[in-house]
Amino acid sequence: MKIIMLGAPGAGKGTQAKMIADKYNVPHISTGDIFRANIKEGTELGKKAKAYMDKGELVPDALVVDLVVDRVGKKDAENGYVLDGFPRTIPQAEALDEALSKMNDKIDYAIDIDVPDDNIVNRMSGRRACVSCGGTYHIVNIPPKKDGICDVCGGKLILRDDDKPETVQKRLSVYHEQTQPLIDYYTEKNILRTVDGTCSMEEVFKAITDILG
Ligand code: AMP
Repeated sequence: MKIIMLGAPGAGKGTQAKMIADKYNVPHISTGDIFRANIKEGTELGKKAKAYMDKGELVPDALVVDLVVDRVGKKDAENGYVLDGFPRTIPQAEALDEALSKMNDKIDYAIDIDVPDDNIVNRMSGRRACVSCGGTYHIVNIPPKKDGICDVCGGKLILRDDDKPETVQKRLSVYHEQTQPLIDYYTEKNILRTVDGTCSMEEVFKAITDILG
């Protein structure tokens, strides 16, 4: 099962993608996580990506496409994967389709988690991320067991630079301009499915598994 998660930043793509990956036993491929891991390790890619991420802008397509095409070609992705945060532009979607068709392959579903903008801004200000493992929480909706501490690895939880209110506004406008056109792109391919992202995490997941079967 090959799935793409769509939705504004903060719509809950990452949380749902992890739950899907666990249930269907496929890798969760998050380009945001890949960039953050590179930033942490101080790689060249990380240095380049950080400059864009801190401003709430997209990393150029050229830095993302090969990385993802390479990742989906790995052995553990043979039976499926959940792409979280990719594609984010029409050229990225076209490059992915082209690479997949060369492998005689295709995406099965693009799942759009639909959440209105004002809702997003409220959510993002409560989001906290682990400095060590990147796990995400929300101070109200998905609180950690111990305040400020990651349940999984015990790392410190922080408000990511790109989740700060001014950056969130920028990310939302980037989303509307560059990523939302993918809704039409996948509608035309007949693989778009939309779920109401304002429901609880469990309800959203139920709606998704009803689609995936
Ligand atoms: P995310 O964790 O998916 O919200 O990604 C965090 C940031 O990483 C985004 O705001 C972008 O700057 C960058 N990023 C992640 N995925 C992509 C992508 N597919 N194309 C361009 N930039 C991306």
